Amino acid sequence: MGTVEVKNVWKIYDGDVVAVKDVSFRCENEEFVAVLGPSGCGKSSTLRMLAGLEDITKGEMLFDGKRVNDLTSRDRNVALAFESYALYPPLTVYENIAFPLRARGMDRRQIETKVQGIAKDLELTEVLKRKPGKLSGGQQQRVSLARALVRDPSVLLLDEPLSHMDQRVRAVIRVRIRKIHDELSTTTIYVTHDQEEAVALADKIIVMDLGAIQQIGTADDMFNYPVNQFVAGFIGEPSMNFLKGKIESTNRVAVLNGDAMVSWEVKEDIPESYLNTDVFVGIRPENVQVSKEPTDSGVKAIVVVVEFLGEEKTLTLSLGDIEIKAIVSADFLTNEEDTLWLTGAPGDLHVFEKKSGEALIKTKK
Ligand code: ADP
Ligand code: MG
Repeated sequence: MGTVEVKNVWKIYDGDVVAVKDVSFRCENEEFVAVLGPSGCGKSSTLRMLAGLEDITKGEMLFDGKRVNDLTSRDRNVALAFESYALYPPLTVYENIAFPLRARGMDRRQIETKVQGIAKDLELTEVLKRKPGKLSGGQQQRVSLARALVRDPSVLLLDEPLSHMDQRVRAVIRVRIRKIHDELSTTTIYVTHDQEEAVALADKIIVMDLGAIQQIGTADDMFNYPVNQFVAGFIGEPSMNFLKGKIESTNRVAVLNGDAMVSWEVKEDIPESYLNTDVFVGIRPENVQVSKEPTDSGVKAIVVVVEFLGEEKTLTLSLGDIEIKAIVSADFLTNEEDTLWLTGAPGDLHVFEKKSGEALIKTKK
């Protein structure tokens, strides 16, 4: 068992720093949940409250339906791995990983099997006899992660556990974490600012910004049906482009083209009350359609940079005061300073109210 419920939780530091604002979510038993958002958005504060390392200013946290607000870390049966390693310097790597098992009174042989197993998964076999001080930051972080994973807790809490590892190791360890989760079936909450990590690992993603939850859903929900401009811009690499526009009708937007406007069709879903409202029209780089000839609805753009990426290339295009990116096939020949005309298919366009950032087209494709 390992459901986690967070109900209307707030964290206010020093009386006035509102780090977490009325956050509510639920993790099912055995679910892998990522909490994703930029630095300072309240991810670690949320996780530290779940871990019992930080008081809950307001609201409730429940594990398996039982309120844990007043329980100590130990009584919550959670395992943690944070960005900082908190290893015991006098102990070897082996002893650091074995520590929580010894504390529980597990027998020697069982400890040996468990430590060797997790060390293999996290590529630590070679350094088991060393002291943490002799390891790189990335290795120390893996020891900290191993110590958390070896415990078989009811809830596993990980806060940016790969941040000190280099790119290659990070990709390897990421896959191992998911594999270990699937073997142990431990409910896991994984905090990261890296959307690629969240998308690769999680069953469910919780996107936060400015202390508040923006959207909860699968990677597919976030990518195809972002509820606001923040989520739309945060998920996807390169990021979604945003063009200035105005609502013309329930299924047309006027898009700024130099000093004039062109009319683009979008999916019919915009409430009539938004007529003439200023909006941003969102289109992902892979969906931008480019033409070398002027078209009726084309937005004129100048090529600024051409980057080759194997079978594709990324164009950076200037529309006067904004720049956008388009991914085109490698055989589309174009050079810097060329003029191109851009459009997007109705099903690929997102529309966000300029003032609130809210998505105005809500139906799924
Ligand atoms: P994240 O993990 O998403 O980067 P944090 O939860 O660490 O965000 O921080 C959220 C906000 O709370 C930030 O503005 C941060 O400066 C503030 N904060 C975090 N810890 C403390 C603290 N102990 N005292 C005061 N402010 C804090
Ligand atoms: Mg943090």
